[in-house]
Amino acid sequence: MKNKIYVKICPKCGSTNNTIPPAGRDIHMTMPDYCKNCENRGLFPEIEKSKIPEFRKELKKKKK
Ligand SMILES: [Zn+2]
Repeated sequence: MKNKIYVKICPKCGSTNNTIPPAGRDIHMTMPDYCKNCENRGLFPEIEKSKIPEFRKELKKKKK
């Protein structure tokens, strides 16, 4: 069996350097994810770790 690793990725910059905001648990659970790279907050999609390069490619296409 293959062990797939899923990571949360920032839909804005493609960084996986994200975490739950320190105060996130005290407030509502409306914005559970926080990107340390671009300070984007919200619901981040979870993707397979091996798909990260693909995801970033798509991001670049969208930006233009
Ligand atoms: Zn980001």
